[in-house]
Amino acid sequence: MVKDNPFQVAQKQLDIAAEILGLDEATHEILRWPIRELHFLIPVHMDDGSVRIFRGFRVQYNDARGPAKGGIRFHANETIDMVRALAAWMTWKTAMLNLPLGGAKGGVICDPRQLSPSELERVSRGFIRVAARFIGAHKDVPAPDVFTNPQVMAWMVDEYEIITGEHTPAVITGKPVEIGGSLGRADATARGGIFAVREAAHHLGLDLRGKTAALQGYGNVGSFTHKLATEILGMKVIAISDVYGSIYNENGIDPAKLMPYARQQGTVTGFPEAEPTEDPPLEMDVDVIFPAAIEGVITKENAHRIKAKIVAEMANGPTTPEADRILDEKGIYLIPDIFCNAGGVTVSYFEQVQNTYGFYWSEEEVNRRLDDKMVQAFHEMQHTAEARQVHNRLAAYLVAVERVVKAMKVRGWV
Ligand code: NAD
Repeated sequence: MVKDNPFQVAQKQLDIAAEILGLDEATHEILRWPIRELHFLIPVHMDDGSVRIFRGFRVQYNDARGPAKGGIRFHANETIDMVRALAAWMTWKTAMLNLPLGGAKGGVICDPRQLSPSELERVSRGFIRVAARFIGAHKDVPAPDVFTNPQVMAWMVDEYEIITGEHTPAVITGKPVEIGGSLGRADATARGGIFAVREAAHHLGLDLRGKTAALQGYGNVGSFTHKLATEILGMKVIAISDVYGSIYNENGIDPAKLMPYARQQGTVTGFPEAEPTEDPPLEMDVDVIFPAAIEGVITKENAHRIKAKIVAEMANGPTTPEADRILDEKGIYLIPDIFCNAGGVTVSYFEQVQNTYGFYWSEEEVNRRLDDKMVQAFHEMQHTAEARQVHNRLAAYLVAVERVVKAMKVRGWV
């Protein structure tokens, strides 16, 4: 199957919103493209004495509402269009949650599994040496993403502070707590999505206690989604997949057992308290499905087979525009990515606030503030969906795009 170009998907989603909002040509055009892009080379001295040249990107999509914000990915198949799409989605995500931030994303074409820890450190520091002039606490604030983690952020913030000669923890989020990371960041994306599902169920009059869910992906987001769907919603997660295969247990899979197993084994497959299955979890007859792995997995080929009442997009871009239409026709309640997985960037924003004040919150306070933000955004999306008679993704885009447009207009850009 040939996958849609993710940036074309992002542009298509914007085009639909732009038409409904009646945006003029210039306003629409500026929103279809990144406002700035940095393409660069990172020379890295490898352990064997050779020098390898890595290609990197940093895309600032739009910063009308505040400093651009978005993660850095280290990925063997990274492309500029993937980074652009993710930077666009970050712009809509921060606007949807009404955070005073813009959208950005970065990437390095590399396979971190092929690098030694010291090579990984040199790639991370090399990224910052080149990008230091482009980023900043009041310009553009990176964070971890696919195959980068708090340790990588620690090297990056350290390199930035060596270059600038000042402590500026707010330049990068997702740091270890020892150097200014926020409590509650690790499970924030999953927690925000679970709060969104709780609000959606309340709106639909569904009681999810004891009901079933299926999950695709068991990384940072997927594993915490499993834990919190069980703990907060009282659901039974009966099917889980990762890149190696799928497992199934009709009585529900226990996160307290699967999480340490998957951490140790590097996969959910072979878990002794579930059976292997060939059936894709996203197509199972369950109440809620959580795509929490990669983009482009619900398409026009399989959308007809989705049976869940709620689709909670924990991953970025899991549903193509054609599949959106099919899910909408089937009356499935979709919680779109730019809202559903915005818990991570919301707590990243809380981290910036705490760094700026030099005053740190308890985990309970972080979680409570995240809950407030998700509930507020849910009502804004739902209200717009009803008022404009549109499906949820479009409603979320309308809320977000309108906020970015207003910021550009008062600045006099358009
Ligand atoms: P991760 O790398 O920790 O985990 C990805 C998981 O997906 C792994 O279990 C992997 O085996 C699985 N996977 C990969 N391809 C698969 C396939 N074809 N079928 C089934 N499983 C597959 O990544 P993550 O941080 O958990 O992110 C997952 C998704 O959530 C991504 O789309 C990411 O952009 C999005 N997201 C993450 C965050 C965050 O805070 N980490 C925030 C917002 C959005």
